[in-house]
Amino acid sequence: QARRLEGVDKNVWVEFVKLAATYPTVNLGQGFPDFSPPDFVKEAFVKAVSGENTKLHQYTRAFGHPVLVTILARFFGKLLGRELDPMTNVLVTVGAYQALFYCFQALVDEGDEVIIIEPYFDCYEPMVKMAGGTPVFVQLRQKVVEAGKLMSSRDWQLEPAELASRFTERTKAIVLNSPHNPLGKVFSREEMELIADLCVKHDVLCFSDEVYEWLVYDGKEHVRFASLPGMWDRTITIGSAGKTFSVTGWKVGWTLGPDRLLKHLRTVHQNSVYHCATAAQEAVAQAFQREFDNYGKPDSYFVQLAQELEQKRDFLVQSLVAGGMKPIVPEGSYFLLADFSKFKSDLPDLPDSDEPYDSRFIKWMIKNKGLVAIPVSAFYSNSQKRNYDHLIRFCFVKEDATLKAAEVILQQWR
Ligand code: PMP
Ligand code: GLN
Repeated sequence: QARRLEGVDKNVWVEFVKLAATYPTVNLGQGFPDFSPPDFVKEAFVKAVSGENTKLHQYTRAFGHPVLVTILARFFGKLLGRELDPMTNVLVTVGAYQALFYCFQALVDEGDEVIIIEPYFDCYEPMVKMAGGTPVFVQLRQKVVEAGKLMSSRDWQLEPAELASRFTERTKAIVLNSPHNPLGKVFSREEMELIADLCVKHDVLCFSDEVYEWLVYDGKEHVRFASLPGMWDRTITIGSAGKTFSVTGWKVGWTLGPDRLLKHLRTVHQNSVYHCATAAQEAVAQAFQREFDNYGKPDSYFVQLAQELEQKRDFLVQSLVAGGMKPIVPEGSYFLLADFSKFKSDLPDLPDSDEPYDSRFIKWMIKNKGLVAIPVSAFYSNSQKRNYDHLIRFCFVKEDATLKAAEVILQQWR
């Protein structure tokens, strides 16, 4: 085994996806819609593979199928208020996962530090390590909430002095994820400005993971980090067609950024994957074109999906409250966290082990109650895991019937 793989062999998705498939369960674990993507998205794929253009079965341009990079540049150029060059400011990748992997491979050197905000989408840490970098963690801290009120993801905030203390002369980049997985926090403009000021002061890059960009609730605004003054030049924005069009299995993602940074990502890409599935790129391009024409209108899928998910979020929050868990109401994303402390005393003694309590609890819940969630300790670094193992993550991008089935499990539990 190469040294760069030390300590990165465990993976929460591999473990819990397998468990979810082993038992009969209501699955609110891994983040994927269990409902169909919209017809216009499916039709675009059918057309790509069965239409007259048989070239769509062959290789396309390495750094992104021309129609896809063209519409991505137009679409995001409009949102960022700057002209994007489809050839140099956009790179299409195999999902957002690969986009993230490229950021670290292309721009982080041995000895470089990368700041990661805890909790965090778990892959950031192993990806930094595989690039030879050192992850440096800073935590979102919980504000005290009035008794009787539900906590919101907004109540989790960075402490400015603590954040500033993490920047050193070795800091190469900070990873920002808004809307946030697993908390559902949507960072405010002020919170982003705090990060932006530190990036300028210490000459640091920002890898801005915005895969949940369309999924914001309660009228909240998604701020694109690259749109802040001076930030375009030091930001790589990461997006995902999986999350955008409810097609997580298509694995089409992208990065947007200045040529001076993306050219290094292109070097990794041309020497590893070369390009991703042409037909999937074509279909995503057609879907984006349709959304471009319907932007902000009631017909827009982006508008409709967010409205539907807001209702699903509210339903799950109610079910959890009624069932005795304490949800943290998310402002965005597919997910919410819930405190299950009240359930500890109900349970038989779980075998003690090195495994955090939330992980053992969910395994018990899967086997005995048929309900799947994801342990929040998976989203924390080793030294913090035990401090947050009273929380579990639920995914609500699910059919109403699935959420109802989860509610029934919770009702019958207590
Ligand atoms: N970033 C975040 C925050 C995610 O939740 C995910 C998981 N879907 C990804 C990146 C990876 O996205 P993709 O499925 O497009 O590779
Ligand atoms: N991003 C998804 C989640 O957080 C799934 C990631 C995965 O399955 N590897 O649930």
